[in-house]
Amino acid sequence: MSERLPIIDATAGSGDGAGLAVLPDLKAMTRDELTAFLKEGFGESRFRGDQIFRWLHMKRARSVEAMTDLSKKLRQALTERTRVGGLELEDVRTAQDGTRKLLLRTAGGDRIESVIIPMDHSFTQCVSSQVGCKIGCRFCLTARMPLRRNLSASEIVDQVLWAQEVMGEGERVGNLVYMGMGEPLDNYEQVVRSLKILMDEFGANFSSRRITVSTSGVVPKLARLGADVPVNLAVSLNASDDETRTRLIPINKVWNIEALIGALHAFPLPPRRRITIEYVLLKGVNDTRADAERLVKLLRGLRCKVNLIPFNPWPGAPFERPEERDVDAFGKIVLDHGFTVTVRYSKGEDIGAACGQLDGNQVAA
Ligand code: SAH
Ligand code: SF4
Repeated sequence: MSERLPIIDATAGSGDGAGLAVLPDLKAMTRDELTAFLKEGFGESRFRGDQIFRWLHMKRARSVEAMTDLSKKLRQALTERTRVGGLELEDVRTAQDGTRKLLLRTAGGDRIESVIIPMDHSFTQCVSSQVGCKIGCRFCLTARMPLRRNLSASEIVDQVLWAQEVMGEGERVGNLVYMGMGEPLDNYEQVVRSLKILMDEFGANFSSRRITVSTSGVVPKLARLGADVPVNLAVSLNASDDETRTRLIPINKVWNIEALIGALHAFPLPPRRRITIEYVLLKGVNDTRADAERLVKLLRGLRCKVNLIPFNPWPGAPFERPEERDVDAFGKIVLDHGFTVTVRYSKGEDIGAACGQLDGNQVAA
């Protein structure tokens, strides 16, 4: 057995802040990475990579010890020189509408949240990619937390594994949205690795059509994402002029609306798919007829649909939700220009589980 362990970025984002030496995390590796790792470090075959990947991502093993069909010798070697990363489940809260919020803890003691939302025929899970967020959108509660750190691929994937654990007989997460805490494209490597793991047929086996990554508009990463994994893209546009957008989403100063829309036209969309344009409606800020008309002009010729999100309030927020008739009037203008429009009245508001309400603290019901 060779002593040399291949250097791969399997520990990124998993620092515990205490400066402890970190062993390679088996759960943060794609199947190819795991196979290469086991071959180089332990002289094991491709078969072993598939077997261990299945244990971790299909059978949800939380330790090497649980992998009962591995030899004792291999289990011991793996236990000494590797670890199985992930999260602890601290609490599950259920809202009146059936939305469940999982409160999860990292090894370093940070808390993150993931939300399971009941839909017509299945469930959609909203996953977090960072502890906090550094983009600083003024309407978002997560922005009130400084960015503490990126989540590792195993911590992102583990949110989905815990959801499967928590769900009842016959319940299943059908769709994943990267719309929880954090900016996914600011944690690019780990997010892409988590997508590859979740899409693997030896693991949770999600189809790429059932996964959506949402970004506030980190333009240089957009083309890379499209080339790396064929998932659905959602973009938080949230304003139709640069002055308003910069005020709401500070990175608009770096990549303005023109740069963002240009990147969306260039995005390698798989056939028959459309980009989702998210637009948080804030009363008196970006919800007028003139805003709607500017918005449809911006989106002309883009393969997209529009998702309007009436603002979800949080204590001390400097914005209000528009009246329903104003939301409808805005939607009608966009619809009349030939776009598909949906209005997302977020679920789980009573437990602080709606869009923009996640901050790692449970809300007393
Ligand atoms: N960071 C990524 C994904 C997480 S935020 C992004 O910004 O796209 C997911 C969605 O929630 C975004 O479209 C964001 O604009 C929206 N959002 C944030 N705070 C909100 C709030 N208080 N009310 C309604 N939507 C909000
Ligand atoms: Fe970060 Fe998205 Fe919240 Fe903006 S809306 S602060 S990018 S999580």
